[in-house]
Amino acid sequence: MEYCFGVDIGGTTVKIGLFRTDGEIADKWEIPTHVENRGEAILPDVAEALKKKMAEKNLEISQVSGIGIGIPAPVDENGIVQNTANLGWGYKEVKREMEVLTGMKVAAGNDANVAALGEMWLGAGKGEKNMIMVTLGTGVGGGIIVNGQALAGAHGAGGEIGHLCVDPEETERCGCGNRGCLEQYASATGITRLARRRLAADDKASALREKELSAKAVFDALKEGDPVAEEIVEEFGAYLGYAMANLAAVTDPAVIVIGGGVSKAGEILLGYVEKYFKERAFFANKETRFVLAQLGNDAGICGAAKLIL
Ligand SMILES: [Zn+2]
Repeated sequence: MEYCFGVDIGGTTVKIGLFRTDGEIADKWEIPTHVENRGEAILPDVAEALKKKMAEKNLEISQVSGIGIGIPAPVDENGIVQNTANLGWGYKEVKREMEVLTGMKVAAGNDANVAALGEMWLGAGKGEKNMIMVTLGTGVGGGIIVNGQALAGAHGAGGEIGHLCVDPEETERCGCGNRGCLEQYASATGITRLARRRLAADDKASALREKELSAKAVFDALKEGDPVAEEIVEEFGAYLGYAMANLAAVTDPAVIVIGGGVSKAGEILLGYVEKYFKERAFFANKETRFVLAQLGNDAGICGAAKLIL
């Protein structure tokens, strides 16, 4: 077995990678995700794309270890999905269907957990077996790796870090229906919300008052030395840092990896999270390393490939 496939299914595109089993990416490409008709074409489309690639590269089934698939939904240990927010799927036996379509071994997992596996295998967590990955995008995603395995849990919903309750007094609702979720403060939209609240609190001068608010605008202003932006980032850092300290007390990670669009702010972001983390972490966890994710959009295909190896 010299090869395997890593497939990262998203709401608009499916990213696919052909990997050598030592982790080298031999090829990667994308196909559109056809979500219409309850997403019935998605898996057949992927199967077709893999077969085409194998023909193009003259690969036999015997040379391929299998196919790992990351899915934006909870996935149980049998590769079964109960529902998806943006693929059109209801109940779907992803692993079984894909095995029938391709004749190859298949493993499936939640996309955030899979991305964490990718960072552990080839990225920021390389060499580690215990890791937390937080993805700060439109929402907050997460993956928890314990002893080299992504924590899937009883419902495939393990590692849903974004929905840790960090403020029970919150009055606005999170997308999940609860109130006070980490996602409401640490995602790109959450940081924008913190900024809006802070600017409304008084009329202290800030460059942010003349700009369209976004997480990027806040970090850009911070880098220019804007004191109000700094207050906002301190608040963000406290929410995320304390949440990570709580998680560290449970899973004792060697490293905490921060990825997603917000992490493009760079190293400056880590300092604000680490400061509050250190303030509240259990003494044995205080030296946990914080690092930025390294694989970007490739984390999903890398982790999916790792899933099958
Ligand atoms: Zn929530």
